[in-house]
Amino acid sequence: MRSVEEHQRRVAELIRPPRPVPFQLAQVLGRVLAEDVIAPIPLPTFDNSAMDGYAVRAEDFARASAERPVVLPVAADIPAGSPANVPLAPQSVHRIMTGACVPPGADAILPFESTDRGAEHVRAHAPTSLGAHIRRAGEDLAAGGLALRAGVRLRAPHIGLFAALGLASVPVFAPVRVLILSTGSELVAPGSPLGPGQIYESNAPMLAAAVEEVGGFAHQLRFVSDDVAQLRARIDQALAELSDVDLILTSGGVSAGEYEVVKQAFEGGEAEFVHVAMQPGKPQGCGRYRAADGTTVPLVALPGNPVSAQVSFEVFLRDPLIAAMDGGRPPRPKLRAPLAEPVLRSPSGKRQFLRGVLAEDRASVSPFGPPGSHFLRSMALSNCLVDIPADVTSLPAGAEVAVWDLA
Ligand code: AMP
Ligand code: MG
Repeated sequence: MRSVEEHQRRVAELIRPPRPVPFQLAQVLGRVLAEDVIAPIPLPTFDNSAMDGYAVRAEDFARASAERPVVLPVAADIPAGSPANVPLAPQSVHRIMTGACVPPGADAILPFESTDRGAEHVRAHAPTSLGAHIRRAGEDLAAGGLALRAGVRLRAPHIGLFAALGLASVPVFAPVRVLILSTGSELVAPGSPLGPGQIYESNAPMLAAAVEEVGGFAHQLRFVSDDVAQLRARIDQALAELSDVDLILTSGGVSAGEYEVVKQAFEGGEAEFVHVAMQPGKPQGCGRYRAADGTTVPLVALPGNPVSAQVSFEVFLRDPLIAAMDGGRPPRPKLRAPLAEPVLRSPSGKRQFLRGVLAEDRASVSPFGPPGSHFLRSMALSNCLVDIPADVTSLPAGAEVAVWDLA
């Protein structure tokens, strides 16, 4: 049997390296910036008013007070968006709105609050000082300055910053594009009636969600029947229709039964099917799929039992997919916690991934639900995997175990 670590290496080798691509701002939230972004323009872009009021020469109003108000004519009106190319003549003011360009010759803003808000003449009952209420060009970010360093996971204010700099797109690490296939003649779409012997198909939506959760794109190819020719035909058709599929991810059809369609369709040549020393998730496959047109696409084949499929995704695919989309950052660390209850039995020679519940304070972990790989609800109600080493067959309460936090 192959070790978990060895199969992790084989699968990781199949995932393409991080690749920067320009993405429209509407699509970059949560993605990782792939290159440094340099400011093409300064922020603020030009000297502008921080208040509604009047653009003035500060010295004209240096001595204004309630007892001795200063009165001057309003020579122009500058709403936001106006070019403000008329210079301010001495002994006059321009009325100006917040965000509007400060005219040449003005060196301060006199806010409405210090005046009678006059339209023809303004009467100021308080002074203003040199530079008051002017937002200076470049005081936030100079043109040519570093706006944001590569490697940052993009949040709303980052997107605002790019937009303010006039950037319509920025380079992010491209999402891995995964073609998700579920096989099995017993599978039926949720929403349609079940016939005898049929079950609802659950792996494709679950694995698609797992791919999307780490930032990938998933395309589901569901209800592929247990027929080798049909399976290959449907994959070839999907590959022709979709551009840039980075990975084909199948579930089911890899165990020891009579109709193991995935194994039959891909075995030999460029894919291998092995037993991995783990529970759940023993039957696994990986390699490359050679399409009808001769091109090859990486392939990972997971077992069909829903818990096995989901645990296998966590163990083999999650970290390499994250690395491909986060620019190779190391995977998130696993933690250690003491068992709140004993583990009475664990198979000798197999690494066991029990579903578990990690206490809110993370101070202890309890195994949750039976070990069988069809207990999907137990998996849904758990929030972690408890990683029991292959050579361990039981553990007392209080023993420290490795925990994979799934929440
Ligand atoms: P297989 O490896 O194809 O023999 O599948 C193992 C078990 O998982 C069987 O009970 C299948 O019915 C079940 N199974 C396989 N694929 C799916 C799927 N996409 N959705 C739900 N159950 C599945
Ligand atoms: Mg099957």
